Amino acid sequence: MNVKTVPFTKEQIREIIKQYPTPFHIYDEKAIRENARKLVSAFSWAPGFKEFFAVKAAPNPYLMKLLKEEGFGADCSSLTELMLAGKTGITGEDIMFSSNDTPPNEFVRAREMGAVINLDDISHIDYLEQHAGLPELLSFRYNPGPLKEGNAIIGKPEEAKYGFTREQIIEGYKKIKAKGVTRFGLHTMVASNELNNDYFIETAEMLFALVREIHEKCGIAIEFVNLGGGFGIPYRPEDTPIDLDYISRGIKNRYNSMISGTPCDPLKIFMESGRLITGPYGYLVSTVLHKKSTYKEYVGLDACMANLMRPALYGAYHHITVMGKEDRELTKTYDVTGSLCENNDKFAIDRKLPEINRGDIVVIHDAGAHGHAMGFNYNGKLRSAELLLKEDGSVVQIRRAETPEDYFATLDFSKL
Ligand SMILES: *Cc1c(COP(=O)(O)O)cnc(C)c1O
Repeated sequence: MNVKTVPFTKEQIREIIKQYPTPFHIYDEKAIRENARKLVSAFSWAPGFKEFFAVKAAPNPYLMKLLKEEGFGADCSSLTELMLAGKTGITGEDIMFSSNDTPPNEFVRAREMGAVINLDDISHIDYLEQHAGLPELLSFRYNPGPLKEGNAIIGKPEEAKYGFTREQIIEGYKKIKAKGVTRFGLHTMVASNELNNDYFIETAEMLFALVREIHEKCGIAIEFVNLGGGFGIPYRPEDTPIDLDYISRGIKNRYNSMISGTPCDPLKIFMESGRLITGPYGYLVSTVLHKKSTYKEYVGLDACMANLMRPALYGAYHHITVMGKEDRELTKTYDVTGSLCENNDKFAIDRKLPEINRGDIVVIHDAGAHGHAMGFNYNGKLRSAELLLKEDGSVVQIRRAETPEDYFATLDFSKL
């Protein structure tokens, strides 16, 4: 069990709403920092351990900057994510560029910034060389195919579009070694929102074995393994959070038995998590606009799936707290909806909740990763604001809400 709480009272959030109307996302700085420190401390044994925050999860420079202060880099996969990292002051090898189906100008930008380039396919070696030149350090994304079980969001590895096969990995390192690359990394990401601790230990073990095989077959020492993202968070109250200390201990055991004292030692351990870092510490705050009673009971919010797409996209569960009614009995069953003209615009279906009234403030939990980031403008919806709840209880707006002018900015009405 993990108890779902919010880091503000009803009175505090009412005050905040006076200045910043709902809907908005609010992030808890203190909790994000504490969580970041927990991760770094769990892996303090690992030589050169580094987390590259997956920018796509919460592409806000203020969040990236506070994570930079905790020692994190940035994991980018597009031109604008690279630009965001640059604007945040994250540069050089503090940027991991793990993209796929990559356009040439993005490789050029990644090279200019000195980012660590993590190639998704063997054909990208020549493509990168042709468009941007080969760097001294190059990493490959490994797809273990049927050797590893997948999970619900990312699917089976052999059906995933990402990465090199085992044969291609060996061939690829031989090829770049011959072309003069001198430093090498190895990456994999075979899960998304995975809560099974052992899965990550097995993934590390698989990579350690591969590092040794690559050393034998290609005569190169891999400098780092990047375990990717995909570390899960407990969206449901009955979910058990992952145990970072357990995962770290398991990886350390494998490191000691498989890497220590071999020619592959030292081997740096990298991660590029998004969800684990900010997911539980971001909240979508919304006001109840309407109640509707037809064949079912509906509660209509001023937020919609343009603010948080995960329930509609994956049928994902997001916990809901009605402010001031935390201790009331769950006497009602509601569909909690947004206003899009799409029937799957529902934050919850048949959810047991306390009796809700118009004007109630509804908080949707675990919206701190892949939440605002997945926002869109369908139905003319405007993206909402992002706020940062500081450690001293004050609030800073870290992204304003869009206005109709933003929505129309790409149209030229004068040619009508
Ligand atoms: C999405 C993604 C991540 C982050 O995933 P989380 O589930 O947020 O940890 C990391 N690396 C790559 C290559 C990704 O595509």
